[in-house]
Amino acid sequence: MLRTIRYFSSSSVSKVNYGFIGLGQMGQHMARHIYDKLENDKLYVYDVSQDATNTFIQSVTSSNSANSGKINQLSSISDFIKSGDEQLDYIITMVPEGKHVKAVIEELVSVTKKGSPSKKTTFLDSSTIDIPTSIEIHKYVKSEIPEFDFVDAPVSGGVAGAKKGTLSFMLSRADDESITSELRSLLNKMAKNIFPCGSNHGTGLAAKLSNNYLLAVTNLAVADSFQLAKSFGLDLHKYAKLVSVSTGKSWASVDNCPIPDVYSDIPSNNGYKGGFVTKLTRKDLVLATASAAKNGRFLYLGDIGKFWYDKACEEESIASRDLAVLYEWLEGIDEEKGNALLKEHK
Ligand code: NAD
Repeated sequence: MLRTIRYFSSSSVSKVNYGFIGLGQMGQHMARHIYDKLENDKLYVYDVSQDATNTFIQSVTSSNSANSGKINQLSSISDFIKSGDEQLDYIITMVPEGKHVKAVIEELVSVTKKGSPSKKTTFLDSSTIDIPTSIEIHKYVKSEIPEFDFVDAPVSGGVAGAKKGTLSFMLSRADDESITSELRSLLNKMAKNIFPCGSNHGTGLAAKLSNNYLLAVTNLAVADSFQLAKSFGLDLHKYAKLVSVSTGKSWASVDNCPIPDVYSDIPSNNGYKGGFVTKLTRKDLVLATASAAKNGRFLYLGDIGKFWYDKACEEESIASRDLAVLYEWLEGIDEEKGNALLKEHK
């Protein structure tokens, strides 16, 4: 139990200390935006991969040496627990799955309980995880340290949005007024939009899973559409430009176009490396369809969509590249092979 908790109003806090855990495809860019916009504040970072942490520190401090005294590389989760002026106000997690978030938060809570925190810490989870695990973690935090908070704050916008600092945050908050200026200031360092999705814990994730269901199935249709255009002998660069101003326009067909060199700075230009990998897209589709079933909802494309992502993810070279690679994967599935695979599904 906490012994002494001193609460500070946001106006009396001269600096805010941030923690960031998970410096992968998304986290490295999100943490870089925080780093670049640090004023009196400090940032503490950690990734279970020492290489990822080293590369991050090297990259941000060499591109912006002015803030190099304000960033600290930590070597374990327990190092995030600080006392006095160094205590962290916000710790963001950006890790793959619910089990990783759970392990990280449980360790943070357990170490916190051994000390005497002097103010509230908010854990912000931006990973896309299943809602029941997120609710369980929220209940756990509230029962162990009632003054602390755990908020689901998933993002959309992909790696390109993370790089540009134009992400959309989806928060389990009732309305704009219930997002404090301090929290808004943190999120604005990484985002263009902040959407309060509802007062109950998990509503941010509910919005995220609904969106990512749409992304996963649209991505399949985009791969299909470009392969269809190719089978007609169309020039795919011209077709991509046409789609970008036509009714088939979507994030998957334009911002993450599967045809290389139509736009700058997209994964297809780089052999589909990086980006939002196919296995994470599959994970979100599975989470969305499982949630739908729990809500008594039938999804037209949930089951069949999952079947195609399962098939694609059997090949690690597809599973571990950006989801736009499904266009390339589909190239190898002609009518006969496609129908044979579908029979397996039935
Ligand atoms: P990633 O695999 O590139 O990065 C995850 C990072 O977390 C890795 O560097 C890994 O080493 C680290 N990690 C794993 N377990 C850890 C632990 N216990 N402690 C500390 N670090 C740990 O994944 P990503 O693409 O950055 O995605 C992260 C999360 O964000 C996922 O839940 C994903 O679904 C979601 N997301 C991804 C995108 C995208 O476009 N990539 C977009 C929106 C949301």
